Amino acid sequence: FLFHSLQAKMSRPVQARRLEGIDKNVWVEFVKLAATYSKVNLGQGFPDFPPPDFLTEALTRALGGGSHMLHQYTRAFGHPPLVKVLAQFFEKLLGRDLDPMTNVMVTVGAYQALFCCFQALVDEGDEVIIIEPFFDCYEPMVKMAGGTPVFVPLRPNPPKDGRLMSSADWQLDPAELVSKFSKRTKAIVLNSPNNPLGKVFSHEELGLIAELCVKHDVLCISDEVYEWLVYDGKQHIRIASLQGMWDRTVIIGSAGKTFSATGWKVGWVVGPDRLLQHLRTVHQNSVYHCATIAQEAVAQGFQRELTLYGKPESYFVQLPKELQQKRDWLVQSLDGVGMKPIIPEGTYFLVADISPFKSDVPDVPNSDEPYDSRFAKWMVKNKGLAAIPLSAFYSEAHKNNYTNFIRFCFAKEEATLKAANDILQKWKQEKTS
Ligand code: PMP
Repeated sequence: FLFHSLQAKMSRPVQARRLEGIDKNVWVEFVKLAATYSKVNLGQGFPDFPPPDFLTEALTRALGGGSHMLHQYTRAFGHPPLVKVLAQFFEKLLGRDLDPMTNVMVTVGAYQALFCCFQALVDEGDEVIIIEPFFDCYEPMVKMAGGTPVFVPLRPNPPKDGRLMSSADWQLDPAELVSKFSKRTKAIVLNSPNNPLGKVFSHEELGLIAELCVKHDVLCISDEVYEWLVYDGKQHIRIASLQGMWDRTVIIGSAGKTFSATGWKVGWVVGPDRLLQHLRTVHQNSVYHCATIAQEAVAQGFQRELTLYGKPESYFVQLPKELQQKRDWLVQSLDGVGMKPIIPEGTYFLVADISPFKSDVPDVPNSDEPYDSRFAKWMVKNKGLAAIPLSAFYSEAHKNNYTNFIRFCFAKEEATLKAANDILQKWKQEKTS
């Protein structure tokens, strides 16, 4: 009898309503496929080369010598040496005084920074504008907070002169953007440089977004995790530095992307206290803080970068140089086989057009799965090359808008990129023979 009553109790619904419709995650599926089948993994966004020596040495120093207190809890909102150096660094970048204790908070990767933003700033019924294609977690995070995502697309304008498309050719339609702002709009998510396209928003584009934010009293959640990965002499412009924007912007960054150490999961937010105070409430009631020792090492990394700021030895100068070379190799490989790349202005991602390879992977009419998703699965299983379908970066309603593209990550060793080139070349030969 007791057994039966216990069983009856367990049969009640266990899932909180806020999780409805957000349980699927493209990464879980594609990471598993890559682990099972890939010989060359250009899927998920992480470097396969090591972080710089000065960073790993800082971690070793923190572990070995120094203070054993680095193994214990630190300040909830950020290890003091890290928030201090981040404040100094961003003072330089933003040209304004910052208080390390109230204008900076350290998080478990940029991911948790985003989570804090949505939980702290978005209420039931609020609308949040998201620019498509987008880093996929924005949508479920907005929904989990009770908000409604409102999507506005970057639209491709293919160049007429036959040159390869650039991420700059994907643009917002100003009138369409204007039409998305309303009394219900609480925030817009901006991700420049943008994952997956690599688009670096221009001053003019940011100016329009800023103007609309000010006009409609809207917040800006500015995901700038790729702030140092900008190519061809382009400039990353921080929207918080535009007129009227500091007070309404939260800047998000990631040591994972900045120092090529994604597994460390150290991220941060920089912004006005009036916004950050609410992020602190979410943070202290969920995560509390991120690993002290990793924060200590990242602090030392930033200390070094502060001293070398703008100099050729700076990692923030060297990394984009190396990545630009890798981008160019992958562009050449893809262009060489006819998988037209869209040249990214920033990030370590590149989106390519798979149209010429479609004959190898038959379309399934009336399938709910976008074509690019089936193509990427087929490619990893049959060719051993892992990439991510572009449709994964669109909302459910728009996932079939662009289904001829896949995203590659080029933050890889030369040997990895060569191996990818070999696979593509062999594939092309098989097609033509
Ligand atoms: N934002 C964007 C745009 C990203 O691409 C990523 C990582 N792929 C993150 C945030 C998360 O960064 P982190 O690894 O520091 O949590």
